[in-house]
Amino acid sequence: MQIYNTLTKSKQTFKPIEEGKVKMYVCGPTVYNLIHIGNARPMMVFDTVRRYMEYKGYEVNYVSNFTDVDDKIIKAANEEGVDPSVISERYIEECKKDMASLNVKPATTHPKATEEIDGMLEMIQSLIEKGYAYVAKDGTVYYSTRKFRDYGKLSHKNLDDLQGGMRSLLVSGEDQKEDPLDFVLWKPKKEGEPFWVSPWCEGRPGWHIECSVMSRKYLGEEIDIHAGGEDLIFPHHENEIAQSEAANGKPFARYWMHNAFLNIDNRKMSKSLGNFFTVRDILEKYDAQVLRFFMLSAHYRSQLNFSADLMEAAKNSLDRILTAADRARDFLAKAEEGELKEGELDLIKEAEVFRAKYEEAMDDDFNTADAIAAIFELVKFMNTNITDQTTKAFDAALLAELNELMDILGLTTERKAELLDEEIEKLIEERQNARKEKNFARADEIRAELLNKGIVLEDTREGVKWKRA
Ligand code: AMP
Ligand code: ZN
Repeated sequence: MQIYNTLTKSKQTFKPIEEGKVKMYVCGPTVYNLIHIGNARPMMVFDTVRRYMEYKGYEVNYVSNFTDVDDKIIKAANEEGVDPSVISERYIEECKKDMASLNVKPATTHPKATEEIDGMLEMIQSLIEKGYAYVAKDGTVYYSTRKFRDYGKLSHKNLDDLQGGMRSLLVSGEDQKEDPLDFVLWKPKKEGEPFWVSPWCEGRPGWHIECSVMSRKYLGEEIDIHAGGEDLIFPHHENEIAQSEAANGKPFARYWMHNAFLNIDNRKMSKSLGNFFTVRDILEKYDAQVLRFFMLSAHYRSQLNFSADLMEAAKNSLDRILTAADRARDFLAKAEEGELKEGELDLIKEAEVFRAKYEEAMDDDFNTADAIAAIFELVKFMNTNITDQTTKAFDAALLAELNELMDILGLTTERKAELLDEEIEKLIEERQNARKEKNFARADEIRAELLNKGIVLEDTREGVKWKRA
């Protein structure tokens, strides 16, 4: 299996640290809002990497964090007049619902930054003791970037070029730093902010230290794969390397994987530009697996432009696969029992070429676009070769083949069962009762469940109205 490693800028054969096991860390979202489909790209991409590794027989320990203390969370909390933990807990739950809709498996561990402060204090202390960090007058702790000789090795940046770009920071008031390249490990609290007691000041951690600490705690000092969107290469992952390698005295991650952006009109989809769709927005119009199919139809290192036309095309392509599966299931139901007929075994053998092509694509740095092309070849083969003359065993063998290749991508050939009108009405009634009892969590859950099945609720003055998306 070849993986493109950002560290070496080349594809390398994957060799795990421990035979048969993969230790993988994926930087997770900052939880102050519903996630948008750009944030969902790494979730689906690296979930697919995990599924393929599991298919290959690896035991994958998959860790993905939630950053639940951050300026944006505090700002959202102040706007609502609630504690920051109310905001972060709410959006962790919402994010988990979106992940479930998109068939992203829960991580082995989903650590939260606020529950790992002790580990951060310990790592910062050891960085100070080893001479890699220093405490400024107001108690801010900085990492001394120039002390780490390999700084820049991931982003392939040269310290002096970086320095040029950062000179303006010194002028802009961050003059407690000994060097403009230094970054924050711990910072003092401001009025009204959450804080923890530390030897340096009452305050909170910088963002980068969180991942170094959570990764070490749940996966160990040296891990196989560290992943995230390509905007994290610099400075986030570069700083993680500086922290972890200085603290642990050994290489941190062997393979660094980064997905390219999901764009809209050729610009990165992002909260700050306001050019985003949340996963929820999309689920109002499409089955969740159309979105997953759309994302995987491009290689993860290629930029992908989002548009209504491309989503329609994805929907139609996926439908061709589902229709072939429906057709196979119809013939299967009517076919005769018994041994494979003459020639059927040869055809099944012939169909093995599609799995071989699929694996070849996935082994080549998870080329899901080519893997999907192999699925289409199988679909064509099924449409030609499954007939009213073929046996149950034959139809079932090809259908199982298709199901497995889809499943590795987190897709299914089963169409979602449509909810009957009366089932919808019953759920709406249950939601109304939950609201009366102020059980808003249950009420939201029902709304999400309905949405997931394509039912959109609208609260109007005349009561709740619903429509099929
Ligand atoms: P954030 O909450 O902004 O830290 O983002 C969480 C994850 O989503 C990170 O791995 C980002 O790199 C990734 N991400 C954010 N926006 C996009 C985008 N438009 N396309 C692909 N990945 C993105
Ligand atoms: Zn991270």
